[in-house]
Amino acid sequence: MRSLAILSLHTSPLAQPGAGDGGGMNVYVRELSSALAGAGVACDVYTRAWHPGLPDVVDVEPGVRVHHVAAGPPGPLDKHDLPDVVGDFTKGVLTRILDGYDAELIHANYWLSGAAGHSLKHELELPLVSTFHTLARVKADEAAEHEPDRRARTEAEVIGCSDVILASSAEEQAQLVRLYGAAPERIELVPPGVDHDLFAPGGRGAARAVLGLDTHGPLLLFVGRIQPLKGLDVAVRALHALGRPDARLAVVGGPSGPDGATELARVRGLVDELGLADRVRFVAPQPHGRLAVWYRAADVCLVPSRSESFGLVALEAAACGTPVVAAAVGGLRTLVDHGHTGFLVDGRDPSAYAAYAGEIVGNPVLAAEMSISAAARSGRYRWSITAARLRRLYADLAARSLVECR
Ligand code: UDP
Repeated sequence: MRSLAILSLHTSPLAQPGAGDGGGMNVYVRELSSALAGAGVACDVYTRAWHPGLPDVVDVEPGVRVHHVAAGPPGPLDKHDLPDVVGDFTKGVLTRILDGYDAELIHANYWLSGAAGHSLKHELELPLVSTFHTLARVKADEAAEHEPDRRARTEAEVIGCSDVILASSAEEQAQLVRLYGAAPERIELVPPGVDHDLFAPGGRGAARAVLGLDTHGPLLLFVGRIQPLKGLDVAVRALHALGRPDARLAVVGGPSGPDGATELARVRGLVDELGLADRVRFVAPQPHGRLAVWYRAADVCLVPSRSESFGLVALEAAACGTPVVAAAVGGLRTLVDHGHTGFLVDGRDPSAYAAYAGEIVGNPVLAAEMSISAAARSGRYRWSITAARLRRLYADLAARSLVECR
């Protein structure tokens, strides 16, 4: 296996994660393609031309190219309109591949790319590997968030014809079978990684000084896209319930999705209502590498998501030696070793988050032990390991006959 087409229709790996459509998937596609290139698999990453004037092809590093494919108007598109441009995107990718950007396999990310990948599989008779990142029926099941029917139907079709479906966690693996009837033998559990050169433990005082934080009290941290699914309101209420006037909460990220702006306004209103305006700091999305300083500055990272197929933020925090208090959902259940690297919370009660955060900030010995365990446990997640597993898997697939549509 020497060349791979990676589809990332709705969000570019070159975009800033932490707001809008940019999140874990951008990081996943960028880090994975880089690690695969390092392992000898050249990657052509295809994304929609989301802005006028973008170059057709960007050489990102040896073995990684990002293609901007015209599909729909050359500018930002509402997520609801993206399904309508899948056909154009598919044609654009097909043309590039036939023009000489060879691909031996297609790896599609998210359902929109899955739909494109499914068509390309049949056009080119190539194996299809799918990573969904989030799934409509899981969101409905875990978070009562309802996506248009079209999405779940398309996901089911793509799952039915993917030669391999990648699950990031055991939870997602089970959900694929339970909610989509996926064939268990075609699901491979391949967790993402973390860049340990960027995300490593460091001095808390120095990190706070770099960030210009004058606080000496406990610092709670929330990182990620702001939308109802991420439960930022729970983090704010947890700060309130902690009952420590010297404690602060930093929120790094920006609004995302159709409800993002309303959610941010709602949370800001909550901050005022609870009298926390001088103790909650909203920070614009940060370049990925810069985040390490925020994780190091914090005593606890809160991840109160309603649903999370993996949870890169929890892994990055752990890699920086910051204990995580997270919702007991999805990949977070595997990432956090309850009582050792942080705590898992069932349900959404802010006082439970506050109690666990309070245990950590009130007990320096426990905090130090958790910090060491969190960093040590994160060592099992590396992009080079993820890439090595995928490289073998791609090679096996190239030698097998294609799964037939069902
Ligand atoms: N992120 C970032 N800058 C920010 C906020 C977030 O680079 O200001 C990155 C973060 O480091 C993580 C990703 O966005 O890698 C979020 O991934 P996660 O799996 O936690 O959530 P998702 O966005 O996939 O729902």
